[in-house]
Amino acid sequence: MIPIQRPSLGVEELEEVKKVFDSGWLGLGNVVYEFEDMVKRYLDAEDIVAVNSGTSALHIALDSLGIGSGDEVIVPSLTFCASVQVITSLGAIPVFCEIDPLTLNINVDDAKKRITSRTKAVMPVHYCGNPCDMDSLLSFGKENNIFIVEDAAHAFGSLYKGKKIGGFGNVTCFSFDPIKTLTCGEGGAVSVNHDLSEMVRRKRNLGIDKDAYRRYEGTQNWFYEVATQGYRYHMSNINAAIGMAQLKKLPFFIKRKQSIVKAYNEQFSKIRGISLLNWNVDEVAPFSYIIRVLDNRRDLLIEFLKTRGVGSGVHYIPNHMQPFFAKYASWLPVTEAVWREIITLPLYADMKENDVQKVIDSVNDFFVSEC
Ligand SMILES: *Cc1c(COP(=O)(O)O)cnc(C)c1O
Repeated sequence: MIPIQRPSLGVEELEEVKKVFDSGWLGLGNVVYEFEDMVKRYLDAEDIVAVNSGTSALHIALDSLGIGSGDEVIVPSLTFCASVQVITSLGAIPVFCEIDPLTLNINVDDAKKRITSRTKAVMPVHYCGNPCDMDSLLSFGKENNIFIVEDAAHAFGSLYKGKKIGGFGNVTCFSFDPIKTLTCGEGGAVSVNHDLSEMVRRKRNLGIDKDAYRRYEGTQNWFYEVATQGYRYHMSNINAAIGMAQLKKLPFFIKRKQSIVKAYNEQFSKIRGISLLNWNVDEVAPFSYIIRVLDNRRDLLIEFLKTRGVGSGVHYIPNHMQPFFAKYASWLPVTEAVWREIITLPLYADMKENDVQKVIDSVNDFFVSEC
Protein backbone atom coordinates (compact mmCIF):
# COMPACT_ATOMS: atom_id res chain seq x y z
CA MET A 1 0.00 0.00 0.00
CA ILE A 2 1.34 3.44 -0.93
CA PRO A 3 0.90 5.52 2.24
CA ILE A 4 -0.59 9.03 2.22
CA GLN A 5 2.42 10.47 4.04
CA ARG A 6 5.73 9.29 5.37
CA PRO A 7 8.77 11.07 6.76
CA SER A 8 12.00 11.33 4.79
CA LEU A 9 14.78 10.30 7.17
CA GLY A 10 18.42 9.40 6.63
CA VAL A 11 21.80 8.95 8.26
CA GLU A 12 22.05 12.74 8.71
CA GLU A 13 19.30 12.68 11.34
CA LEU A 14 20.93 9.68 13.08
CA GLU A 15 24.28 11.45 13.19
CA GLU A 16 22.79 14.54 14.84
CA VAL A 17 20.93 12.37 17.35
CA LYS A 18 24.13 10.47 18.12
CA LYS A 19 25.85 13.73 19.02
CA VAL A 20 23.09 14.39 21.54
CA PHE A 21 23.50 10.88 22.99
CA ASP A 22 27.24 11.43 23.31
CA SER A 23 26.72 14.78 25.03
CA GLY A 24 24.58 13.17 27.73
CA TRP A 25 22.14 16.14 27.68
CA LEU A 26 18.90 14.83 26.21
CA GLY A 27 16.35 17.42 27.37
CA LEU A 28 15.98 21.15 26.78
CA GLY A 29 19.42 22.52 26.00
CA ASN A 30 21.82 23.95 23.46
CA VAL A 31 20.61 21.87 20.52
CA VAL A 32 17.09 23.23 21.02
CA TYR A 33 18.43 26.79 21.13
CA GLU A 34 20.46 26.15 18.00
CA PHE A 35 17.42 24.73 16.22
CA GLU A 36 15.35 27.76 17.27
CA ASP A 37 18.02 30.01 15.84
CA MET A 38 18.09 28.12 12.53
CA VAL A 39 14.30 28.27 12.23
CA LYS A 40 14.33 31.96 13.12
CA ARG A 41 16.81 32.71 10.34
CA TYR A 42 14.99 30.47 7.87
CA LEU A 43 11.65 32.20 8.45
CA ASP A 44 13.11 35.65 9.08
CA ALA A 45 11.08 35.65 12.31
CA GLU A 46 11.53 37.89 15.35
CA ASP A 47 11.67 34.97 17.78
CA ILE A 48 11.03 31.23 17.74
CA VAL A 49 10.06 29.10 20.74
CA ALA A 50 10.38 25.35 20.12
CA VAL A 51 7.92 23.02 21.84
CA ASN A 52 7.04 19.34 21.89
CA SER A 53 4.08 19.44 19.45
CA GLY A 54 2.01 21.66 17.20
CA THR A 55 -0.87 21.27 19.63
CA SER A 56 1.32 22.58 22.48
CA ALA A 57 2.34 25.50 20.26
CA LEU A 58 -1.29 26.49 19.68
CA HIS A 59 -2.16 25.98 23.35
CA ILE A 60 0.55 28.22 24.78
CA ALA A 61 0.05 30.77 22.02
CA LEU A 62 -3.59 31.26 23.02
CA ASP A 63 -2.79 31.06 26.74
CA SER A 64 0.01 33.63 26.42
CA LEU A 65 -2.41 36.02 24.72
CA GLY A 66 -4.63 35.73 27.79
CA ILE A 67 -7.41 33.83 26.06
CA GLY A 68 -9.53 31.99 28.60
CA SER A 69 -12.93 31.33 30.05
CA GLY A 70 -15.82 32.67 27.96
CA ASP A 71 -13.62 34.19 25.25
CA GLU A 72 -14.49 33.35 21.67
CA VAL A 73 -12.04 32.14 19.03
CA ILE A 74 -13.20 31.98 15.42
CA VAL A 75 -11.84 28.86 13.68
CA PRO A 76 -12.79 26.98 10.51
CA SER A 77 -14.67 23.80 11.32
CA LEU A 78 -12.66 22.00 8.62
CA THR A 79 -9.36 21.55 10.45
CA PHE A 80 -7.57 18.97 12.57
CA CYS A 81 -9.29 18.59 15.94
CA ALA A 82 -6.14 19.87 17.69
CA SER A 83 -6.98 23.42 16.59
CA VAL A 84 -10.28 23.19 18.46
CA GLN A 85 -9.17 21.16 21.50
CA VAL A 86 -6.70 23.88 22.48
CA ILE A 87 -9.52 26.45 22.47
CA THR A 88 -11.87 24.42 24.65
CA SER A 89 -9.04 23.33 26.97
CA LEU A 90 -8.68 26.99 28.00
CA GLY A 91 -12.40 27.31 28.71
CA ALA A 92 -12.80 29.43 25.58
CA ILE A 93 -15.51 28.94 22.98
CA PRO A 94 -14.75 27.81 19.40
CA VAL A 95 -16.90 29.76 16.93
CA PHE A 96 -16.86 27.73 13.73
CA CYS A 97 -16.71 29.52 10.41
CA GLU A 98 -16.85 28.65 6.74
CA ILE A 99 -14.15 27.93 4.21
CA ASP A 100 -13.58 28.82 0.59
CA PRO A 101 -14.34 25.63 -1.38
CA LEU A 102 -11.56 26.36 -3.88
CA THR A 103 -8.76 26.55 -1.30
CA LEU A 104 -10.29 24.99 1.86
CA ASN A 105 -8.92 28.08 3.64
CA ILE A 106 -10.89 30.35 5.96
CA ASN A 107 -13.61 32.46 4.35
CA VAL A 108 -12.64 35.82 5.81
CA ASP A 109 -15.99 37.47 5.04
CA ASP A 110 -17.83 34.69 6.84
CA ALA A 111 -15.43 34.96 9.79
CA LYS A 112 -16.14 38.70 10.02
CA LYS A 113 -19.87 38.00 10.35
CA ARG A 114 -19.25 35.84 13.39
CA ILE A 115 -17.51 38.50 15.48
CA THR A 116 -19.05 39.40 18.84
CA SER A 117 -17.87 41.51 21.75
CA ARG A 118 -16.29 38.34 23.18
CA THR A 119 -14.17 37.50 20.12
CA LYS A 120 -10.50 37.52 21.12
CA ALA A 121 -8.85 35.70 18.24
CA VAL A 122 -9.23 34.20 14.79
CA MET A 123 -7.33 31.02 13.97
CA PRO A 124 -6.79 30.62 10.23
CA VAL A 125 -5.40 27.28 9.00
CA HIS A 126 -3.12 27.35 5.94
CA TYR A 127 -4.64 24.28 4.34
CA CYS A 128 -2.21 21.91 2.59
CA GLY A 129 0.38 24.67 3.05
CA ASN A 130 -1.53 27.17 0.91
CA PRO A 131 -1.48 30.55 2.72
CA CYS A 132 -4.74 32.20 3.78
CA ASP A 133 -5.53 35.78 2.83
CA MET A 134 -3.24 37.22 5.51
CA ASP A 135 -3.55 40.86 4.42
CA SER A 136 -7.31 40.82 5.02
CA LEU A 137 -6.99 38.84 8.23
CA LEU A 138 -4.29 41.04 9.75
CA SER A 139 -5.99 44.32 8.87
CA PHE A 140 -9.34 43.08 10.13
CA GLY A 141 -7.67 41.84 13.32
CA LYS A 142 -6.02 45.20 13.85
CA GLU A 143 -9.25 47.15 13.29
CA ASN A 144 -11.16 45.01 15.78
CA ASN A 145 -8.44 44.36 18.35
CA ILE A 146 -8.49 40.66 17.61
CA PHE A 147 -5.40 38.44 17.51
CA ILE A 148 -4.67 36.36 14.43
CA VAL A 149 -3.19 33.08 15.65
CA GLU A 150 -2.12 31.09 12.60
CA ASP A 151 -2.35 27.32 12.65
CA ALA A 152 0.54 26.88 10.23
CA ALA A 153 0.96 23.16 10.97
CA HIS A 154 0.77 22.52 7.21
CA ALA A 155 2.70 25.55 6.04
CA PHE A 156 6.33 25.40 7.15
CA GLY A 157 8.30 26.86 4.23
CA SER A 158 5.35 28.38 2.36
CA LEU A 159 5.50 31.92 1.01
CA TYR A 160 2.89 34.66 1.21
CA LYS A 161 3.68 37.59 -1.09
CA GLY A 162 7.37 36.71 -0.96
CA LYS A 163 7.58 36.32 2.82
CA LYS A 164 7.66 33.05 4.71
CA ILE A 165 4.61 32.15 6.76
CA GLY A 166 5.74 32.78 10.35
CA GLY A 167 8.02 35.63 9.27
CA PHE A 168 5.31 38.28 9.76
CA GLY A 169 1.90 38.46 11.42
CA ASN A 170 0.84 38.15 15.08
CA VAL A 171 1.50 34.60 16.27
CA THR A 172 2.23 31.57 14.07
CA CYS A 173 2.22 27.96 15.22
CA PHE A 174 4.01 25.11 13.46
CA SER A 175 3.97 21.34 13.87
CA PHE A 176 6.95 19.06 13.33
CA ASP A 177 5.08 15.80 13.96
CA PRO A 178 6.11 12.66 12.02
CA ILE A 179 4.05 13.36 8.89
CA LYS A 180 4.57 17.09 8.54
CA THR A 181 6.82 18.51 5.79
CA LEU A 182 9.63 18.91 8.34
CA THR A 183 9.69 16.54 11.29
CA CYS A 184 11.48 16.50 14.63
CA GLY A 185 9.98 13.08 15.43
CA GLU A 186 7.51 15.09 17.47
CA GLY A 187 7.68 18.84 17.89
CA GLY A 188 6.35 22.27 17.15
CA ALA A 189 7.24 25.93 17.32
CA VAL A 190 5.68 29.29 18.01
CA SER A 191 6.81 32.29 15.99
CA VAL A 192 6.27 35.42 18.09
CA ASN A 193 7.44 38.98 18.39
CA HIS A 194 9.59 40.14 21.30
CA ASP A 195 6.59 41.40 23.31
CA LEU A 196 5.19 37.92 23.71
CA SER A 197 8.21 35.65 23.46
CA GLU A 198 9.17 35.84 27.15
CA MET A 199 5.69 34.68 28.18
CA VAL A 200 5.62 31.85 25.61
CA ARG A 201 9.07 30.74 26.77
CA ARG A 202 7.97 30.63 30.41
CA LYS A 203 4.78 28.75 29.62
CA ARG A 204 6.57 26.02 27.70
CA ASN A 205 8.70 25.32 30.76
CA LEU A 206 6.23 25.12 33.67
CA GLY A 207 6.01 28.89 34.07
CA ILE A 208 9.59 29.12 35.28
CA ASP A 209 11.06 32.60 34.97
CA LYS A 210 14.66 32.39 33.84
CA ASP A 211 15.26 36.07 34.45
CA ALA A 212 14.77 35.49 38.17
CA TYR A 213 17.50 32.85 37.93
CA ARG A 214 19.78 35.23 36.07
CA ARG A 215 19.43 37.85 38.80
CA TYR A 216 21.16 35.47 41.18
CA GLU A 217 23.61 34.00 38.71
CA GLY A 218 27.00 33.42 40.25
CA THR A 219 25.68 33.55 43.80
CA GLN A 220 22.52 31.45 44.01
CA ASN A 221 22.35 29.67 40.67
CA TRP A 222 19.95 27.08 42.08
CA PHE A 223 17.28 29.78 42.31
CA TYR A 224 14.14 29.74 40.16
CA GLU A 225 10.78 31.43 40.28
CA VAL A 226 7.42 30.08 39.05
CA ALA A 227 5.86 33.19 37.54
CA THR A 228 2.77 31.98 35.67
CA GLN A 229 0.61 29.01 34.71
CA GLY A 230 2.88 26.84 32.61
CA TYR A 231 3.15 23.43 31.00
CA ARG A 232 5.85 20.91 30.32
CA TYR A 233 5.91 21.61 26.61
CA HIS A 234 9.55 22.28 25.79
CA MET A 235 11.31 20.54 22.91
CA SER A 236 14.11 18.08 23.75
CA ASN A 237 17.64 18.09 22.34
CA ILE A 238 16.92 14.72 20.69
CA ASN A 239 13.97 16.11 18.73
CA ALA A 240 15.82 19.33 17.90
CA ALA A 241 18.72 17.27 16.48
CA ILE A 242 16.34 15.53 14.05
CA GLY A 243 14.88 18.91 13.08
CA MET A 244 18.30 20.43 12.42
CA ALA A 245 19.18 17.68 9.95
CA GLN A 246 15.73 17.99 8.34
CA LEU A 247 15.98 21.76 7.94
CA LYS A 248 19.07 21.36 5.75
CA LYS A 249 17.10 19.08 3.41
CA LEU A 250 13.89 21.10 3.44
CA PRO A 251 14.48 22.84 0.07
CA PHE A 252 14.73 19.39 -1.55
CA PHE A 253 11.59 18.14 0.22
CA ILE A 254 9.66 21.18 -0.99
CA LYS A 255 10.93 20.92 -4.59
CA ARG A 256 10.11 17.24 -4.81
CA LYS A 257 6.62 17.67 -3.36
CA GLN A 258 5.94 20.62 -5.68
CA SER A 259 6.90 18.53 -8.70
CA ILE A 260 4.58 15.68 -7.62
CA VAL A 261 1.73 18.17 -7.09
CA LYS A 262 2.33 19.56 -10.59
CA ALA A 263 2.31 16.08 -12.11
CA TYR A 264 -0.96 15.28 -10.32
CA ASN A 265 -2.53 18.60 -11.31
CA GLU A 266 -1.60 18.14 -14.94
CA GLN A 267 -3.23 14.72 -15.12
CA PHE A 268 -6.23 15.34 -12.89
CA SER A 269 -7.19 18.63 -14.53
CA LYS A 270 -8.27 16.49 -17.50
CA ILE A 271 -10.81 14.57 -15.43
CA ARG A 272 -14.30 16.09 -15.35
CA GLY A 273 -15.37 14.49 -12.07
CA ILE A 274 -12.57 16.19 -10.13
CA SER A 275 -12.14 19.73 -8.85
CA LEU A 276 -8.56 20.78 -8.10
CA LEU A 277 -7.54 23.14 -5.33
CA ASN A 278 -6.69 26.65 -6.40
CA TRP A 279 -3.11 27.32 -5.30
CA ASN A 280 0.12 28.72 -6.66
CA VAL A 281 2.26 25.63 -6.22
CA ASP A 282 5.55 27.51 -6.75
CA GLU A 283 4.90 29.61 -3.63
CA VAL A 284 3.65 26.76 -1.47
CA ALA A 285 5.52 24.11 0.48
CA PRO A 286 2.81 21.53 -0.17
CA PHE A 287 1.98 19.49 2.91
CA SER A 288 -0.66 17.23 1.42
CA TYR A 289 -2.53 16.75 -1.83
CA ILE A 290 -6.29 17.08 -1.68
CA ILE A 291 -8.82 17.05 -4.51
CA ARG A 292 -12.60 17.28 -4.51
CA VAL A 293 -14.45 14.34 -6.04
CA LEU A 294 -17.78 15.51 -7.43
CA ASP A 295 -21.13 13.70 -7.83
CA ASN A 296 -21.00 11.80 -4.55
CA ARG A 297 -18.24 9.46 -5.74
CA ARG A 298 -15.60 10.21 -3.11
CA ASP A 299 -16.19 7.11 -1.01
CA LEU A 300 -16.27 4.90 -4.13
CA LEU A 301 -12.89 6.28 -5.17
CA ILE A 302 -11.43 5.55 -1.71
CA GLU A 303 -12.62 1.92 -1.98
CA PHE A 304 -11.32 1.61 -5.54
CA LEU A 305 -7.88 2.98 -4.61
CA LYS A 306 -7.68 0.52 -1.73
CA THR A 307 -8.02 -2.38 -4.20
CA ARG A 308 -5.12 -0.87 -6.19
CA GLY A 309 -2.84 -0.55 -3.17
CA VAL A 310 -3.11 3.23 -3.06
CA GLY A 311 -3.71 4.81 0.34
CA SER A 312 -6.08 7.76 0.68
CA GLY A 313 -7.85 9.62 3.44
CA VAL A 314 -10.26 12.38 4.38
CA HIS A 315 -8.79 15.49 6.00
CA TYR A 316 -10.74 16.39 7.95
CA ILE A 317 -14.16 15.55 9.33
CA PRO A 318 -15.60 18.96 10.28
CA ASN A 319 -15.27 19.54 13.99
CA HIS A 320 -18.83 20.74 14.50
CA MET A 321 -19.90 17.24 13.42
CA GLN A 322 -17.80 15.63 16.17
CA PRO A 323 -19.72 14.56 19.30
CA PHE A 324 -17.51 16.54 21.68
CA PHE A 325 -17.86 19.81 19.74
CA ALA A 326 -21.50 19.38 18.66
CA LYS A 327 -22.72 21.98 21.14
CA TYR A 328 -20.76 24.62 19.22
CA ALA A 329 -22.30 23.62 15.86
CA SER A 330 -23.74 26.30 13.61
CA TRP A 331 -24.99 26.69 10.03
CA LEU A 332 -22.03 25.66 7.85
CA PRO A 333 -23.45 24.47 4.51
CA VAL A 334 -20.26 24.97 2.46
CA THR A 335 -18.11 23.06 4.94
CA GLU A 336 -20.61 20.20 5.08
CA ALA A 337 -20.85 19.94 1.29
CA VAL A 338 -17.10 20.18 0.71
CA TRP A 339 -16.01 17.61 3.26
CA ARG A 340 -18.06 14.94 1.51
CA GLU A 341 -15.98 15.60 -1.61
CA ILE A 342 -12.42 15.81 -0.29
CA ILE A 343 -9.89 13.04 -0.60
CA THR A 344 -6.22 13.13 0.33
CA LEU A 345 -3.86 11.29 -2.02
CA PRO A 346 -0.27 10.15 -1.32
CA LEU A 347 2.33 12.92 -1.21
CA TYR A 348 5.74 12.72 0.43
CA ALA A 349 9.27 13.71 -0.55
CA ASP A 350 10.61 10.15 -0.84
CA MET A 351 7.78 9.06 -3.13
CA LYS A 352 9.11 6.99 -6.05
CA GLU A 353 8.28 8.02 -9.60
CA ASN A 354 6.48 4.74 -10.30
CA ASP A 355 4.36 5.22 -7.19
CA VAL A 356 3.35 8.68 -8.43
CA GLN A 357 2.43 7.10 -11.76
CA LYS A 358 0.49 4.35 -10.00
CA VAL A 359 -1.62 6.94 -8.15
CA ILE A 360 -2.28 8.81 -11.40
CA ASP A 361 -3.17 5.63 -13.32
CA SER A 362 -5.42 4.37 -10.53
CA VAL A 363 -7.38 7.62 -10.33
CA ASN A 364 -7.66 7.71 -14.13
CA ASP A 365 -8.87 4.11 -14.24
CA PHE A 366 -11.56 4.85 -11.68
CA PHE A 367 -13.00 7.69 -13.72
CA VAL A 368 -12.75 5.79 -17.00
CA SER A 369 -14.50 2.74 -15.57
CA GLU A 370 -17.13 4.78 -13.71
CA CYS A 371 -18.04 7.32 -16.34
C1 LIG B 1 -0.69 18.38 12.75
C2 LIG B 1 -1.65 19.47 13.01
C3 LIG B 1 -1.81 20.07 14.27
C4 LIG B 1 -1.17 19.54 15.52
O1 LIG B 1 0.18 19.32 15.46
P1 LIG B 1 0.82 18.13 16.34
O2 LIG B 1 2.28 18.37 16.23
O3 LIG B 1 0.40 16.84 15.74
O4 LIG B 1 0.33 18.30 17.75
C5 LIG B 1 -2.65 21.15 14.38
N1 LIG B 1 -3.34 21.62 13.33
C6 LIG B 1 -3.25 21.06 12.11
C7 LIG B 1 -4.02 21.65 10.99
C8 LIG B 1 -2.42 19.96 11.91
O5 LIG B 1 -2.34 19.39 10.71
